[in-house]
Amino acid sequence: MRVESTPAIVLRAREFGESDKIVTVLSRAEGKFTGIAKGAKRSRRRFPGSLELFSHVNLDFKQKNDTALCFLERAVLIQPWSRLVTSLESYAAASHVIELADKMTVDREVGDEIYALTVAALARLDDRPASATTLRVFELAALAASGYRQEFSRCTRCQEELLAVGDALRVPYSGTGILCATCSDPEQGGPTISAAAAEILLRLEAAVSRALPQGDPDMDAAAAFVGDDEIESDTPQRVATEVRIATMTLLQPHVRGRLRALESMGVL
Ligand SMILES: [Zn+2]
Repeated sequence: MRVESTPAIVLRAREFGESDKIVTVLSRAEGKFTGIAKGAKRSRRRFPGSLELFSHVNLDFKQKNDTALCFLERAVLIQPWSRLVTSLESYAAASHVIELADKMTVDREVGDEIYALTVAALARLDDRPASATTLRVFELAALAASGYRQEFSRCTRCQEELLAVGDALRVPYSGTGILCATCSDPEQGGPTISAAAAEILLRLEAAVSRALPQGDPDMDAAAAFVGDDEIESDTPQRVATEVRIATMTLLQPHVRGRLRALESMGVL
């Protein structure tokens, strides 16, 4: 078995037997995968506290060709997070980021965009107090990277500019875009939002496009989060709640199961 190497983020880790750990990572080179770290609880040399949640590591692993079983050989921290492990709010926000990264990916599906966005979101949350806007940017960017880019400037049915048509805009449960009041069908379901919320969603969409320019293979994940504090301070709490409900509605068709970390977080 050849030893391979990749940068990765630890999404899940649990103890296994006396001294081992079963760890699921999102890696740049191989997508998401799970492996066993033999002796992880004992070896400070191969795993110096590097297999904890959110850990950003350079991971050496071996893959048996004929099975899905993977052996984690060594993990070296690339950057330690200080705030993520000391502030309860930042920890909860980071939990949401990795839960979403986990639930929007399948094993071995290589997508370095989701990996890069996850690292950038964790770095942002580690850098300053957690903000709801950082999470919303990550959610919409993760959707775009998974092929579900959202467009908020126009009604998805009549193409009328949403900011020109007023309130009572509907976010349908089908998980694509927004409908104006005229096109919206209450029987179709989905929350309604104000024009003010649509305006914030437009700014979030612009942030996503900076990181993932449409039709451009190059991405700059960190660019999505530049200016998120400005959007945050322009968003009254009432509007932030609408935006949160709107992005949750757009996410739900594309994730497996419920988003537990977000449900437990309250206002963020
Ligand atoms: Zn319409």
